[in-house]
Amino acid sequence: MDALTDAAPPAIDAVFRRQVALSRGGPPSAAERLDRLNRLRALVRDNEKAFAAAISADFGHRSTVETVMAETLFVQGEIRHATGHLKRWMAPRKVATQLQFMPGKNRLLPQPLGVVGIIAPWNYPLQLTLAPAVSAIAAGNRVMIKPSELVPQFAQLMRETVAAKFDVAELMVTGIEDGVARSFAELPFDHLLFTGSTRVGRIVAAAAGRNLTPVTLELGGKSPVIVDRSADLDQVAARVAYGKLLNAGQTCIAPDYAFVPQASVESFADKLLAAMRRFYGANPDNADYTSIINDRHYVRIEAMVADAMAKGARALQIAAPHVPEWKGRRKFPPTIILGATPQMTVMQEEIFGPVIPVLGYAEPIEAIAHINAHDRPLALYWFGEDAAARDEVLARTVSGGVTVNDCLFHFTQGNQPMGGVGASGTGAYHGEWGFNTMSKLKPVFYRSPLNRFADLYPPYGGKMKRMTSLMRLLSGG
Ligand code: NAD
Repeated sequence: MDALTDAAPPAIDAVFRRQVALSRGGPPSAAERLDRLNRLRALVRDNEKAFAAAISADFGHRSTVETVMAETLFVQGEIRHATGHLKRWMAPRKVATQLQFMPGKNRLLPQPLGVVGIIAPWNYPLQLTLAPAVSAIAAGNRVMIKPSELVPQFAQLMRETVAAKFDVAELMVTGIEDGVARSFAELPFDHLLFTGSTRVGRIVAAAAGRNLTPVTLELGGKSPVIVDRSADLDQVAARVAYGKLLNAGQTCIAPDYAFVPQASVESFADKLLAAMRRFYGANPDNADYTSIINDRHYVRIEAMVADAMAKGARALQIAAPHVPEWKGRRKFPPTIILGATPQMTVMQEEIFGPVIPVLGYAEPIEAIAHINAHDRPLALYWFGEDAAARDEVLARTVSGGVTVNDCLFHFTQGNQPMGGVGASGTGAYHGEWGFNTMSKLKPVFYRSPLNRFADLYPPYGGKMKRMTSLMRLLSGG
């Protein structure tokens, strides 16, 4: 038996070295990639219930429906998309040739980068480990995954199921012991995809930079909602409530805060609260509502609300007073904050929980100015029917992505790239974008024997002069 697939967990460095050595031996064929993707598909399909149970145990409670929709089915969809398009993605791509080089031809040749490292957060632990792995495998890379230490049961299950279906030289899941994350980020990968907080993203980017390892950083931040005067507030309330409370707000692209016309603040907050109650009832301790991941995050969210109230804000909650058992199960009641100011932590930090400040604006430009005065958001949500107002916001703000008239759904578009900008991230993946991110798209020029343009060797004479005139004409110089 291979030493690296023996019962004892293989050393991360040894696996890395072996993956590098094998990756230099040539690219895997389409058939090999399809085989790996199909094994991954079977792994997710066969263990769907076990994954949902492990993730729920790690959270305290995670809605099974949400795990299936946002994790297992999402990854299955990415696999199906990749397997369906793989041959086309792998094929050399035609690129136009300038007149002076004709009849030579240009091609862009997709090649695997080699070994891809993936560092994942806890909030969608299956999706955010395996969706990047799908891109990396489709592109022909060998892959190492470092899951989050906050989801130990999930991480253990993933490690076991991957080890049962893959040679460690193809796909490997590391342990989550202290120190693994740091040393993992220091490995000289051919590409490193990190999903997590902006704070840790800076550390990971610095570690990768020392190796000149290119990174895709999928980070967080405060994603705003802008509700235009032309919007139907009942519809907006339901859509924002859903986007906010999926996974109890522990979603990187969850709407973080909402700007509504000043005159509508109170009525919108009432409609939002009513929608939250309609979805989850007056008792958050139900099967559809997910727990906060751990006590530290529960206390962090509680402190944000307390800080806002101490500084003069008002909180609307689906139920009051809180029942102690909810806290025991880390079910944080959905909360709307009115009267938030820049001095409150709720307006300074990514909330990452079921709390949403609702702010008023006199003119839409105030919302635009607020957004532009802060870090580029990962997502932006605009609601309304006034196309001119919508286009103004789209043109004047820069964000990782936008959904118009709903929340979250730009993320689920299989043909669109997912990625932030500035402090919310760099690079992108999903579908063909992920394939391209994890590939070297190598330009190759095939010189034609019929073309004499390149034969302009010294000593330069009249022929060179004529060619220079032609080039001047072609380049407009
Ligand atoms: P985190 O940054 O604390 O941790 C993410 C990963 O980084 C974990 O695996 C952790 O072990 C690892 N890590 C921690 N310190 C490290 C170090 N020094 N070197 C290398 N790795 C290290 O984030 P989190 O709390 O797990 O996740 C929440 C954050 O992730 C939020 O900010 C959220 O917005 C963001 N997020 C972004 C996306 C996206 O697609 N853009 C998706 C989900 C979550």
